[in-house]
Parts: sequence; structure tokens; C-alpha cells
Amino acid sequence: MRNLRDTYKTKGQRRRMVMEIEKLGFHDQKVLEALNKVPRHYFFEKAFEEHAYENKPFPIGEDQTISQPSTVAFQTSLLNIKPGDRVLEIGTGSGYQASILAELQAEVHTVEVRKSLAEKASHLLEVMGYANVKCYVGDGTLPFNSLAPFDSILVTAAAPSITNTLVNQLNNRNGKLVIPVGDLTQQVMTRITYCNGELKKEEFGKYAFVPLVGKEGWSIN
Ligand code: SAH
Repeated sequence: MRNLRDTYKTKGQRRRMVMEIEKLGFHDQKVLEALNKVPRHYFFEKAFEEHAYENKPFPIGEDQTISQPSTVAFQTSLLNIKPGDRVLEIGTGSGYQASILAELQAEVHTVEVRKSLAEKASHLLEVMGYANVKCYVGDGTLPFNSLAPFDSILVTAAAPSITNTLVNQLNNRNGKLVIPVGDLTQQVMTRITYCNGELKKEEFGKYAFVPLVGKEGWSIN
């Protein structure tokens, strides 16, 4: 059961969460606005909704987690989304990150390997009215040829490496891949950008994501 009512209380809690993220030094106003719009507690079971506005990751079942709000904010801002951008998210999870991308008016395609999570997220995003999000069940490490190229690809699980499969699906005019790369305990947030026909690589802080599995991910369950 979920509580799909956004009250003064939850709106207030959300504003405080956004202010907390701003105080951490994050100033992308468009992304902060999107975070302020989306009721994060919709993505939690009712029993846990009191945790929805803490700046923390939280279990969503199947040993997976909804990402920490400040991480969602940071990954989103690295993509510099413009309205109409075609974005591929790998790792739908709860669907929260997809809703933030949708608030920025992107055309969002999100893929989740665990069917039960994909179905839950897809249902919720539909109920919330996001017509610009499409959900898929499958292994996002495989090429998505029918939809490529993408203006942005966002990986929300820990990747062992940056694969050609992902880079080859980027729009070669300024396409961006944001991906946490490392081992199973710690990853470096990495951005690959197509710049005048060349690939530019930038590295940001350290994070801890759940593993990216699948053909070109970690071979664990
Ligand atoms: N973006 C999510 C956080 C997801 S956690 C949110 O906002 O809630 C990472 C998710 O990636 C998990 O749900 C996991 O099942 C999924 N995942 C792992 N490997 C994957 C793969 N190869 N393809 C698609 N999804 C994958």
C-alpha cells in the first residue's frame, strides 16, 4: 500500500529536504525545483513513508534501493537536461529518478532488469501522469538499437567499466553518459561527453551504488 496524497506536511518535509541539499552546496535551481515537485513518499511503502524526506537511500525490495536524493540531484545536473532531450536511464528501480528527468521535460526511456520493480515503477509513473516516461523490462547493458542515439544515458547502478555498447548509443553531438564506475563497494561518478567528435572524460566524487548486473555488468544475482 502506498499513500498517494501530498499534504501540507509532506510538502513541508520536501521543502526542507531540498533546502538541506542546497546547503550541501548544490545550486542547480531547475533540478532543485524538480525535486521540490515530486512527492518522494509516493515511491515508498506507506509503512516507511516517514523516511521519504531524509537525504538517504532506502530499500525498495529485491535488495535494491531508491538513490539518495542528493545523488539523484547530482547525477541529473551532470546531464544538463534540455526539454525534449531523449534520455535513457538504466536502473529504473523505484522510478523516482525517472520522474525527476520527466519533470525536466525530457523524453525518458527507463529500463529495469527486475520485472517486479519495473512493473511497480511503471504503474506508479503512469498513475502520476508522466506521459513522457516509457518503462522497459530488460538488461540495459545490451544495446537499445531501436531508440538510440540518446542525448543522455544515465546509469543508476555500479558499473564495472564504461562499455562501447553504452558510448555507441550516444548522440555524437554533445551526447552525455553519466555512470558510477568502480568495484562493488565504491565507484567514481564519471561523465563521458561527445565534444567536437571526441570523447571527453570527467570524474567526480565517490559513491556506493547497488551493482549493475547483466551481460556487461557484474555476474552476480
Ligand atoms: N534509479 C533508481 C535507483 C535504482 S537502484 C531510483 O530512482 O529508484 C539500481 C537499479 O538498477 C536496481 O533496481 C537494479 O535492479 C537495476 N539494474 C541493475 N542492473 C541492471 C541492468 N543491467 N539493466 C537494468 N537495470 C538494472
